[in-house]
Order: sequence, then structure tokens, then C-alpha cells
Amino acid sequence: MVRHNGVAMIAAWFLAVYAIYVQTLVTRRLRAAESDLSWWWLIGGALTVGTGVWAQSFVSLLGRQLPIQLGYRPEIIMAAWLPAVMAGAITIGSIAQVRFSPFKRVRSVAAVSAIFCLIAYLNVSSTTLTPAVVWDGWMAGAALLIALVGAGVGSVMMRREQLLEARWSRQLLVALVLGSFLSLGQWLMIEAAGVPASAVCLSVDQLSGQHLEWLITGVVVMVLVLTQLGAALDGILRSRHAQLETSLRLAHTELQTAANRDALTGLLNRAGFEAYLGEVMASADECSGGVVVMRINLDGFRALVNTYGHALGDTLLRQVAQRLLVLVRSSDAPARADGEEFMLLLRNMPDQVTVIQLAQRIGAAVSMPCLIDGEEISVTCSIGIAMHSDSATPAQLIGHANEAMLTASKAGGGMYCLHAPGMDQSGSRQVEMQRELRHAIQRSELTLHFQPKLDALNGRLVGVEGLLRWTHPQRGPISPADFIPVAERFGLIGELGLWVLDEACRHMRVWLDMGLEIPVAVNMSAHQLREYDLEERVRDALDRHRVPASMLIMEITESVAMDDIEASLRVFDMLDRIGVKLSIDDFGTGYSSLSYLRRLPARQIKIDRSFVRDLDHSRDARAIVEAVVRLAHALGLQVVAEGVETQAQRDVLVELGCDELQGFLLGRPMPAAGLREWMALQPVKFLETVTEAMHVDI
Ligand code: C2E
Ligand code: MG
Ligand code: MG
Repeated sequence: MVRHNGVAMIAAWFLAVYAIYVQTLVTRRLRAAESDLSWWWLIGGALTVGTGVWAQSFVSLLGRQLPIQLGYRPEIIMAAWLPAVMAGAITIGSIAQVRFSPFKRVRSVAAVSAIFCLIAYLNVSSTTLTPAVVWDGWMAGAALLIALVGAGVGSVMMRREQLLEARWSRQLLVALVLGSFLSLGQWLMIEAAGVPASAVCLSVDQLSGQHLEWLITGVVVMVLVLTQLGAALDGILRSRHAQLETSLRLAHTELQTAANRDALTGLLNRAGFEAYLGEVMASADECSGGVVVMRINLDGFRALVNTYGHALGDTLLRQVAQRLLVLVRSSDAPARADGEEFMLLLRNMPDQVTVIQLAQRIGAAVSMPCLIDGEEISVTCSIGIAMHSDSATPAQLIGHANEAMLTASKAGGGMYCLHAPGMDQSGSRQVEMQRELRHAIQRSELTLHFQPKLDALNGRLVGVEGLLRWTHPQRGPISPADFIPVAERFGLIGELGLWVLDEACRHMRVWLDMGLEIPVAVNMSAHQLREYDLEERVRDALDRHRVPASMLIMEITESVAMDDIEASLRVFDMLDRIGVKLSIDDFGTGYSSLSYLRRLPARQIKIDRSFVRDLDHSRDARAIVEAVVRLAHALGLQVVAEGVETQAQRDVLVELGCDELQGFLLGRPMPAAGLREWMALQPVKFLETVTEAMHVDI
């Protein structure tokens, strides 16, 4: 008659649950451990968990009380311990694996459940009974099935990711479910061993004793507790280590940030700026262009600090930094270099005109008065601009911006200056020129000359081109080819353009009052094309002098028009709306795309004089002019030939079908008074003919 020792059964169940719980802890530690420690966790875990499983099986066996005295053969009991450790190793190892295929999962589930049954079988066999134990195949099969189900459920529940993120309650649940399955399987397997009624134990003199289950349970629980403590300690140490590492990394980052920041303004400092510029220029897509460096120096800052003190200087620098931050985009990098100098890195700048507009806004923002301690302080700044296309390395780019800034500063400050190749040599001459140009308007040194444009067929005057002239009091006349680029570099071209526009309209009014309707063409620079208030400026000039918009022609060179076709389209459409006519100057020197040319609402193109010059001796030039005339006419555009110097050129141009001619042969650029004299000398009477000519739609 078989009886059961309830305490031993509960102890066996407890051992199973605890062993599985410790296994989940060990698996976590194994995942978290560095590679050299993970082996130790695998071996140690397999030993303790295996021991737990083995003890569970043995204590289950002890819970089955037979009416005869029993003894257990220690070598067989110990032999059962080895597969138990193996089962522990398989389970821990497989759960800790990063990739665990379904096939491997099934294989390990099958192996572990078979091992569980083997342990029970070996433990039962450690009592040598005669007649021998009779195994109940069905029950053993049921035990194997339970072990399989248990191991399968366990394998799903102990999926790596779940276990790694699991809280202790989930681990306990896993342990309870699995431990119960394991206990049930073991119990069934032991029950499958039928003991004949007449059985006698031959190993009664071997391992036996009262309360053996207590001894084993106690020892194994201690082993499990030690392992659990070890796992907990390892976890605490590891999280401390991780915390320490994180705070070290943070401290390092903060240190690096502090090393790259300017303490006063919070902007990047020189080192930070240089490092960032290096990164930007090294990245492939930025090298394609659009990188610009500006150096912004506060004029007269030292004198200000000497007068008002350092505290005021610091406040001023902080305010300037704030104004810079407001003006730049988030992708730009403003920095404070040293003392009173700021730097600015701009990325993806579409063109020079946009850069200049920003420089003007910065100049205006910096020069706005700052109220500091009741004092109204005003400073101006000198801005040096260098574009990436001129400089190969970050150091060169910064150096070029510096040269430009020094040039602007030497020129009196309160202005920007673009770096130009060879600037250091020609720099001082240009600085001198811009300084004088600045005052040229007030000193009335500028005049507008007019060059006639004649109808190719009948020689009638159809209009004039207004060309700017500067007569320097000492150096005499200076060519616009020399001073217009200087005006563009030093930000004077806007003012000059406005003056020319006003002067052109003023003359048209004078002539209109005399009964002469002479349209004037003025040249427009790239900068004017981008002026946000261009429409207002043009309207103002026309209104002020009561001149019809249709009498004004604006010339823009082909290369400028095609450089930023979208901007040109916008401006051209706007001018077309007002009624101002548009002409594409120096045609043939750029890279006109026909499709764009069609989209521009221009009325005429002016063939560059280089083609006209070669007309009498070059067949190519003739072929080009012929093609341009045909193309322009096909697009409904008029053709003006510039630079006509000889009668032969004139004849060819007339033959090729040019509509208008302009050149020294017909009339040089001359002051307004000279133009009236020139008209008086012409065989045609302009008072009627000009008015008639105006009816031809140019
Ligand atoms: P552009 O608009 O193509 O002006 C025509 C230039 O050709 C003028 O030179 C004119 O004097 C010159 N020219 C005319 N006929 C002949 C000829 O038969 N032979 C030769 N060799 N030259 C001839 P200029 O006045 O020196 O002007 C040069 C350039 O400066 C102009 O070229 C224009 O691009 C620019 N410019 C002149 N005035 C202004 C202005 O008010 N604003 C702007 N933005 N640019 C201007
Ligand atoms: Mg022109
Ligand atoms: Mg031209």
C-alpha cells in the first residue's frame, strides 16, 4: 500500500518553483553580463538550477512512502544529477540566445522533457527492488506529455525579450506555472513505477534515513538562495556601473560643449566654430557650394569700452548676439570669435545676392541703438564675406572672410565687403574707390549719359540707353566697368541704381515737356533684381516725374537673368505688369536656355558687341547673329545690335534683319545736352519721327 508524505510533496513543488525562479534570474544576468562573465553565469546557473530540479525529483520520490524499508544507491542518485544539470544548461543557454529558431526551440523542449523523465526514472531505479518495479507505460507516457507541455509552455513564457524586460511578478508567475508542470510530471513518472506487493529492497543498507527530504530540501534551498543573492548583487553592481558610465558620458559631453561655447553670449566660440565649419566642409553635399562665412566686427568697440567700461561692453556683446540669433536660420551657426568679433557660418545659400541681403540686414540690426544702463549706445559693424567657391579649406575661408572684413573696416566701417580673389593686392585701391564713390552722388560727380538706339531700316531714333558716368575730380572719368563691381561688392549698387532710375525718368520728363518722346533703357544689376521694394522704387520714380511706364526699358544681362531664373521670372512678370519693357543685354555671352527665354516676358534682346565686332571678317560671327535674329523673331522679340562701329557692320546687320542699332558709328554715349545737339545735326527731324517711332511696339 503506497502512502504519500504531504510535506515532502510540498517541499518538492516548492523546490521546482524556486529552481525555475532562480533560472529566470540567472538568464537575465547572463544576457546583461559581458562576454567573459556570461560563461560563468551559464555554468553556475546550470549547476544550481540542475541541482534544484534534481532535488525536486528526489524529494518527490521520498514523498512516496512504501510499506517496506527503502535505501537509495548514491551512485545512481548522483547519476541523475548530471542530466539535471544538463537540462538546466540547455534551458538557460537557449533562452539567453539572441536568435532562437523554432526548430531549435522544439529540439530543446523535447530534450528537456525527456531529461526530466530520465531523472525520475534514475531516481526510482536507485532503490533496487525485487521483484523489480513494473512500469506503467500509459502513466509514463502521460508524465512525458506533461513534461513536454510544461517545457513548451515554459519556452513560450520565457521568451528572451519578455524575460529581459519582465518584472519579478512575471518571473514568479513563470516559475509557478512551470514548477507545477514539472512537479506534476515528476510525480506521475514516479507513480508510473508499480511496486509489487512482495517487493523487498536490496539496497536498504544504502542511503536512507529519517527526514532525508528535509536535509536535501534545506541544502538545495540554501544553494538556490545563494545563487539568487549572487544574481541580485550582480544586478545592483551592474546598474550602478551603468549609472556611473552614463553620468561620466554626460559630464564628458558637457565639458566638450563648454569647451566649444562662449561663456558670455552662449554662442559657439572660435574653436567650436572652426570644428563645425570643418565638419560642414568635409560633408560631401555641402562641398557643392552654398557655404558662406561672415566675419562681423563691431566698429570702435574698444573706444566704447574705454569710455563706458567692460560691463557695458559685455551687455552690448550679448545684445548683438541676440540680434544675430534672430536673423539667422536654425541651420546657420553664429559664433563669437574673440573680443568684439562675431562669425557666422551660412549653409545652402542660393546666391551672392541673398548673402548680401542678409549682410545688410545684419548691419542694420547691429546699428540699431541699444539701451544699456540708461545710455543709448550705437555701434556699426564691418562685415567680411567669403563664399566657399573662392576657398578650398576652412582655414582659407575664414582667412578670406577676415581679409574682406579688414577691407570693410579700413574703408570706414559700417559696411560689408565681399572677398574677391587677389583682393589683398587690389584691396586698398578698391577701398579708396568705394569711399569716394560713396560721396560721388552728393558731390554731383555722377552723370547719366545717353547713347542713341536707331531704327535699322530708316535710321530714326527709337530710344536711348542710359549709361552711368563718374568723373572723379582728380582722376577724371572712371569706367563703369571699374566702379560698378566695386559698388556691388561694397553694397552701394542699390543706391546707384536708384539714382540712375530717377535720373532717367527726370530726363524723360524734360524731353516730354519739349515734345520729345524718347524712351530710356537703364541697366539693372543682379542686386536690384532681388530688391524686395523694386516695384515700389520703379513706380515711385515714374510717378514722381509723371512718365508713362511704357517709356522705361530695363536691361538685364543674360547671365544675371539666367542665373536665378525663378527670381528673374518673378521680377520680369512684376515689371511687365507695371508696363515697363524688358531687354536682355549682352545676349550670346551667357548660357541661355531657349525654353527659359520663351518664358521671360522680355521684349528685346541685345546682341553682345563681341559678335558685332567680328562681323566683317568672321563667318562664324555672321552665322551666330543670323541665328540669333531668326530665333528672336520666331519668339516675337526685337533684336538690338550693340557696338556698331563701322558701315560694313551696319550693312550686314541690316541685311540680317536686326531691328535696332546702337554703337559709336551712330552715336557715342553723351550727356543730355549733347544728345540734343546730336539730334539737331541728324538729317531726320526728331520732333515728329521719334513720336512716330514710338508707335512701333518695341
Ligand atoms: P552695356 O549695358 O552693355 O553697355 C554698353 C556698353 O558698350 C557701354 O559701355 C557703351 O559705352 C559701350 N559701347 C556702345 N557702343 C559701342 C561701340 O560702338 N564700341 C565700343 N567699343 N563700345 C560701345 P560703358 O558705358 O563703359 O558701360 C559698360 C557696362 O557697365 C554696361 O554695359 C553696363 O553693363 C554697365 N553699366 C553702365 N551703366 C550702368 C548702370 O547705370 N547700372 C548698371 N547696373 N550697370 C551699368
Ligand atoms: Mg546695357
Ligand atoms: Mg551690352
